[in-house]
Formats: sequence, C-alpha cells, structure tokens
Amino acid sequence: MQITDRIKNEILTPNDLDAIIVSDPYNFRYLSGSDAEGALLITKEKAHLYTDSRYTIAAKASAGASGFLIHEFTSKNPMKKMVADDAAGLHNIGYEDLFLTVNEFGKFKEALPNAELIPLDTTLNDLRMVKTPEETALLEQAERIGDLAFESIIPLIKPGITELSLAAEIEYAMKRNGAEGFSFETIVASGLNSACPHHRPTERPLEKGDFVTMDFGCIYRGYCSDMTRTVVLGKANDKQKEVYETVRRAQEAGLSALKPGLTGKQIDEVPRNIIKEAGYGEYFGHGLGHSVGLYIHEDPRLSPSEERVIKEGYIETVEPGIYIEGFGGVRIEDMCVVTKDGARSLTHSPKELMEL
Ligand code: ZN
Ligand code: ZN
Repeated sequence: MQITDRIKNEILTPNDLDAIIVSDPYNFRYLSGSDAEGALLITKEKAHLYTDSRYTIAAKASAGASGFLIHEFTSKNPMKKMVADDAAGLHNIGYEDLFLTVNEFGKFKEALPNAELIPLDTTLNDLRMVKTPEETALLEQAERIGDLAFESIIPLIKPGITELSLAAEIEYAMKRNGAEGFSFETIVASGLNSACPHHRPTERPLEKGDFVTMDFGCIYRGYCSDMTRTVVLGKANDKQKEVYETVRRAQEAGLSALKPGLTGKQIDEVPRNIIKEAGYGEYFGHGLGHSVGLYIHEDPRLSPSEERVIKEGYIETVEPGIYIEGFGGVRIEDMCVVTKDGARSLTHSPKELMEL
C-alpha cells in the first residue's frame, strides 16, 4: 500500500508518531483516493476510513481497493468513538491543527483521553506539493477544459451581455467539456470593475471600450485549473495597449523566471520589476502566483514574502496584473508545471491583445 508506506516513512517514523487523524477533505482525498466525508486514522500497520452511508459504497471501491478498512459510522455509533476504539493503546497521534475547529479538537481529545495529540502544522500539505506524473496529467486536462471553454465563448463577448451571463457561459462551457465543478467562483470583471482583482460578476452589461478580465477554473477528477485572460471590447486606446503590453511582458518574464532552485520571492521579483520600471509598480498589489492541486490556492506561493524554494514537479500559476482605480485593470494568468528545464505552461489560449 503505497501511500500508507509513504505516511509511515515520511510522517510517522521521523516525527515519532504512532498515527495520524485526517479530516481535511483535500488531505483525505490525497491519502485515500476517496472523496467521501469523514476521517482517516492511519497507523504504522493499518489505514482506517470512517464515513457514513452516503459514501460507503463509493469509498469501498476507491479507498477500499488500496487497502483502507472502511467503517460506517451512525448516530448510534459515532465516528469519534470508532476512531478512539481503533486508536486504543496508541500514544502520539498527529492531528490537523490547521483544519480542525476547536470544537472538533475537543471531541477528539475527549474520545482519546490517554493519547497525546500532536499538531501536524503543514506536514500533510507539504506532502502534496510535488505532483506525480498522474496528478500533473489531471491538472493538464483540467486546464485544457479551461482553454476549450475560453475558445468557445469568445464569440459571446459582446456589448450587452452582462458579467453574470458571461460567467455562466464560461461555466457551462467548462461543464460541457468535462468539468465536474469549478475551482473557485468565476470572475468576469468589465470596465472600471476590472480594477478589482477579485471582482464578483454583476448585472453590468459589457460596453464598447471595456477591458474584460475573465479568471476561471474547473475541477477535473478532483484537480483544479486556473487561468485568466483579459480582452478589450472594440478598439483599445493607447493607454489600454500600454497597460496590456506591460502585463504581457511581465507575464512572459515570469514564465521564463520560473525555475527550480529559486525562492518564490526571487521569481516574483522579475515581473514585478518590469511593472515597476514601466511606472505601474503601485498597481500590482498581489503576489505573482500560487501552487494548484486538489485545492485551488496551495503553497508555495510566488510572492514577495515566499522564502521557500521552488522545486521540480510543483505546479505554479504566473499571474501578474495592473489595476488602476477609475481606469480598469489587466491580468494574464497561465498555470505551469515546474520542470528541471523551467516552466512548461499548461495554458494555451492566446495572449496577444484581443480587440473584440
Ligand atoms: Zn485565476
Ligand atoms: Zn490563480
């Protein structure tokens, strides 16, 4: 059983733990292969999955096939009691302090009075940073669905369509192409709204002369995609062209800078300096990018405060932007896999300024 051997060798033994309890849905899925709700208890010898009748059959097929013992809890025989029974005699048990509520933690503590509960901090999240070739293939397919969706909605980006309708079209196109869900709420930001990086779509109809920023992603077999394109409705004016080309140059420079062995901060600096030198430094407030996997915003980041080193096998977005209040904004985002030779972009939609 590969993953539990990995847990034993990389988590339990080096940290002197007898077991871990996992209920964060992303860690749960990563370790068990099941998208059920519930908890895992992984000891050096056994892997237990606790869930309820809504998920038991599916969990048997996925996690059961890789050796997990599937237990069905009920209101009469609650999960925490089952975990406590299977953990009887174990002393050092790791728990997800980044995920459990104080209330949940209290219940586990009560059920395991003789165990010492030890916070795992980012230990399990760190395990998810380097993607396997299988995971990368799923992320690539998720991003491909985004590309296909974008291509198909370009004819719909016209004066009169509202931000909300365009967002719905993008989401529909992703589902038609195989998306099982969305990695975050689709962003369509038009006109002055495009100055807000995380604008929520409104009933505003698109108008000639607008910047239209579309940031969207889907979920494919559990894995997220993420991409952003900005277009202009009608002919772009000189300032729009200048802002767009600055972001585009910065984005290309960010892709070239993304290499294993550098810190997230060192990579972030390259496009940030281009934007600064063009005179727009104060209008790029967010980090350059983030990792993506089962969850949309994973670590490590590409940002001025990221001291961690980027490694081969990480997935990172490269998404610089310029946002000017009272004028509008531009963001261009690709999702990349970090190879030993540098970034390989999984996003293939065009980046030349589109005047629609
Ligand atoms: Zn995005
Ligand atoms: Zn992103």
